Amino acid sequence: MSQEPHGTLDEDNPREPAVDVSTETQEYPGFTKEMEPRPDHGEDSYRGNDRLKGKKALVTGGDSGIGRAVALAFAREGADVAISYLKEEEEDGQDCLELILAEGRNALAVPGDVREEDYAAKAVGEVVGEFGGLDILVNNAGYHLEQPGGIADISPDQLRRTFETNVYGTVWMIQAALPHLSPGAVIINTTSIQGHHPSTGLMDYAATKAALNNLTFSLAELLGPKGIRVNAVAPGPIWTPLQPATTSEEKLEKFGDATPLGRAGQPAEVAGAFVYLASNDARYVSGEIIGVTGGMHLA
Ligand code: NAD
Ligand code: MG
Repeated sequence: MSQEPHGTLDEDNPREPAVDVSTETQEYPGFTKEMEPRPDHGEDSYRGNDRLKGKKALVTGGDSGIGRAVALAFAREGADVAISYLKEEEEDGQDCLELILAEGRNALAVPGDVREEDYAAKAVGEVVGEFGGLDILVNNAGYHLEQPGGIADISPDQLRRTFETNVYGTVWMIQAALPHLSPGAVIINTTSIQGHHPSTGLMDYAATKAALNNLTFSLAELLGPKGIRVNAVAPGPIWTPLQPATTSEEKLEKFGDATPLGRAGQPAEVAGAFVYLASNDARYVSGEIIGVTGGMHLA
């Protein structure tokens, strides 16, 4: 690994450890090594218990942030894990692959752009070819760009990028994966508190996450009869590269402060919800959204 994780999560008090994030912004897509403090993906804290033993997973946006924490937790639970990410994120991608390999699991990178229609079939084909199947699809790749002025400032390019990454990309990944999914397979979408309580500075993004919530419900209904479960995890403010790469200094200054727990979360604090939904512990759970928000309610 080219870097050390920051801090551990063994405090009993959920308000600790505080995540005092730097207000320094960086170029999109954002890189883990440039973040202060370094995000905690569970490197020192996540302990697996064979809950995904022998499963084969694909995590989009798995190079960094929440996706990296999910990839690491899945590997520690005994799964082989493939990750996708944008080509310019190769360094973060390689660091995540190392984490998976260190658990003695198979790791695979399928870099590419989820906005491109052909990418999904290519990526899923490579994963199935290499791992011999697919049991868990995590649609986690996502894009947002803060526009403090609201809807008037959302450019055509931004609107397209946000919807094509978050919604189109998810639909294409699911379409490509479906022929390979058997009873017991699981789809998990990363949505957001924004899908329930939209901010005026993230209106387009919030609408994509609401769309993903809605898709989660209809897909659960459609795929339940096939024994395939579909759920979502809706995070609150989590310290990942997406934030310094797309958010203003003013917002970073207060990042997480408005949550009842009074702080931003770490990627590692979100991973457990994905593990639960992917595992047999959740075998009667489908069409559900689990909030990991620092106390903000989804209702
Ligand atoms: P992140 O930047 O670490 O991860 C997002 C990843 O999405 C990137 O690493 C990139 O690989 C991938 N991605 C973006 N556009 C892509 C494209 N066109 N093709 C392929 N991959 C692409 O940030 P994160 O916060 O861990 O984001 C993961 C998910 O969590 C996103 O869906 C995001 O909307 C969601 N989320 C994040 C927060 C938060 O506060 N960080 C809160 C709620 C939801
Ligand atoms: Mg990244």
